[in-house]
Order: sequence, then C-alpha cells, then structure tokens
Amino acid sequence: MSVLQEEDYLPLSGIQHFAFCRRQWALIHLERQWAENLRTTEGDLLHRRAHDETQTESRGDLLIVRGLRVVSHRLRVQGVCDVVEFRQDSAGVPLAGYEGKWLPYPVEYKRGSPKPDDVDALQLCAQAMCLEEMLLCPIPEGSLFYGEPRRRTRVPLDDELRQRVEALISEMRSLYARGRTPRATPKKGCAACSLKDLCLPRLAKTLSPSAYLNAHLPEKEDAP
Ligand code: SF4
Repeated sequence: MSVLQEEDYLPLSGIQHFAFCRRQWALIHLERQWAENLRTTEGDLLHRRAHDETQTESRGDLLIVRGLRVVSHRLRVQGVCDVVEFRQDSAGVPLAGYEGKWLPYPVEYKRGSPKPDDVDALQLCAQAMCLEEMLLCPIPEGSLFYGEPRRRTRVPLDDELRQRVEALISEMRSLYARGRTPRATPKKGCAACSLKDLCLPRLAKTLSPSAYLNAHLPEKEDAP
C-alpha cells in the first residue's frame, strides 16, 4: 500500500483560484507567485482576524471554532476553515469535552461583496466535504461572510456543487502532476485579478516575447 505524503494533498485554498482561472491557480500554486495588492491585503486582514482568535468560543448551545485544520484523505486535499460553528443538535456528533451532540456549520470569510460566480461556494463546499469525512456527519449548508456589506450569505451544499468540487479537484490534480502553467486567456475577471501585472494577459495575447521586451526595455542611449 502506498503511503501518502503531505505534499500529495493539495491546498483547499487553491479551489477558488482554480475555479476562477486555471492560470491564476498555476501561477500561485505551481510557480508560487503572488502579487500583493489592495484586494489580497484586505482579504488577508479579514482572514487574520478570523484565524487569530484560535480559541473555541462557547455561547450557550453554540460553539465557535476558528482556524480549524481540515483534511480529506479521499479527495487528498487539506486546509483551514476560517470558522466552524457547532450547534447543539441530536443529529450531530459528540465533541470531546462538551456534553450532547453538535452539528458543524462552516463559515468562510471573504473580502469584498458577493461575487457573480460561485468560486467561493465551491471552496466552502470543499471544506464541508472535508469536515463530513472527518466527523462522519452530513453538512447540508454553510455560509459565506463578505467584508462588504458585512453579512452572511447562506450556501446550500447540494449534489451539483459537490460534483463540481470533485471534478475541479480531479482536474487540479492532473494539472499539478503535469506541472505546466496554462497560457493566459484574457477574460472579464482579469481586471480584478491580483496577478494581472505578472500574467500580462493582453500583452501575452498580442505580442511575442521579443516584441514585449522591445516595448518595455529602456532605450539605449546613443554613444557619445
Ligand atoms: S490576469 Fe486573467 S488570465 Fe491572467 S491569471 Fe489573472 S485572471 Fe487568469
């Protein structure tokens, strides 16, 4: 039997990148590039606030756990949940140190406002699938909390979303094994992409590398 190494497990955080743009995912997770811009900084601060308070908070029949590490050995992904709320419920699971049974409810923090696509929902669903495998209980719903307008959006974790998560992870794994970054395919989302300056989609589409260098290298001064 083969023993899985930690590096065999892809990061859950890559699912949102991969769903948004395969090239963005490859630049971040294959080439390890990252461009700090306002959007990523805001997102980091929001995540840090969620992860910094690592203690479990108890409010009556609600337990709030921040920064919970999760893994799926079936999907071979791992990551961290911003917040998992455990609600007391007879259909839930026992938790060490707490009486009764508890149902997990993942909440993922996101910068900005709700997006027109469902990349965030896919990441949340993948987290829920990890939790289900770890805790052996169903998680039919989670929530996304957006920095603007600072409220939750409920996300039903239905079969269709789950199948798309599985398909994305499978495609992500095969691209990871090939280790090749896809070419840029400019699209509407490029304007908001944190890697647009590295990726240069418009230039990649219209200019050859030598034409790009000619256009951007400083001109040589004439010899005296
Ligand atoms: S700029 Fe566009 S093509 Fe390039 S990584 Fe970002 S979204 Fe993808």
